[in-house]
Amino acid sequence: MEFELKILGSASATPFLDRHHTAQVLTAGSTHYLIDCGEGTQRRLLEHKIRHQRIRTVFISHLHGDHFFGLFGLLGTMHLHGRTEPLRLFGPAGLDEVLTTQFRHSHTQLNFELEFTAVDTEQFAEVFDDAQVTVHTLPMRHRIPCCGYLFREKPRRRPLLKDKLPADLTPAQLTALTRGEDVLDADGQVLVRNADVTTTPRPPRAYAYCSDTLYTESLAELVHGVDLLYHEATFLDDMRERAASTHHSTARQAAQLARRANVQRLLIGHFSSRYRDLAPLLAEAKTVFDWTELATEGLTVAI
Ligand SMILES: [Zn+2]
Ligand SMILES: [Zn+2]
Repeated sequence: MEFELKILGSASATPFLDRHHTAQVLTAGSTHYLIDCGEGTQRRLLEHKIRHQRIRTVFISHLHGDHFFGLFGLLGTMHLHGRTEPLRLFGPAGLDEVLTTQFRHSHTQLNFELEFTAVDTEQFAEVFDDAQVTVHTLPMRHRIPCCGYLFREKPRRRPLLKDKLPADLTPAQLTALTRGEDVLDADGQVLVRNADVTTTPRPPRAYAYCSDTLYTESLAELVHGVDLLYHEATFLDDMRERAASTHHSTARQAAQLARRANVQRLLIGHFSSRYRDLAPLLAEAKTVFDWTELATEGLTVAI
């Protein structure tokens, strides 16, 4: 199954030339999950030929404008394109109130159902699951309620070794084998041993999205060992005090968390517009954690 992340925006606070506000699309199989929705996200989806019809779920980290001002426009476009399929929306309490007010005063009655779930941004808790993934909230420390999201693939079925399979198994028995069970006869005796006819599946993959936050060491435990970690890196480390006072992190701190959590790869983003050139942020992170990349516009990462 495809498990891929696309970066649509990497700017913090104010946009900058070719850098846009935060938005990412995680694709698992044929489903898109939209993570944050900064201003102009719908245009970025068009540019990257990502069909919004395939977005079934949207996860918003917090209610600073650079993370959700694009949502109203995207919902409006979905409505105008005649969407009827429900859309699930996760985010901090109050998001529903903002949207409802906008819809009320623009006399917009969506022709699809918007199912909003308010998440507790202070808890690590499972908030969503479907056939492909489970999603947990990750508590961030920011100026207003804010959480990240941890996406974990569902455990895979055990692949069958076709040349070792007896010919006369029923579809139900084959399914049981992919679940790791043995095939038994009527008396409960083992007819086919699972270990003889199946093989171990690839371990489920995981992606952790850490939105705006103070450097928080305890996050390392929650995202330990993930295949890909995105962590904000608004500033260089010489501005550590400014980062702390605005509840943000530095490139070095993002890399420290990646190292502490023993993740496979790190993406840094949410860059301050004071940095025209992002190379120093990347270089700083790499001194601590070598497998770092910049989460710049259009980057696609196969997880
Ligand atoms: Zn932000
Ligand atoms: Zn923020």
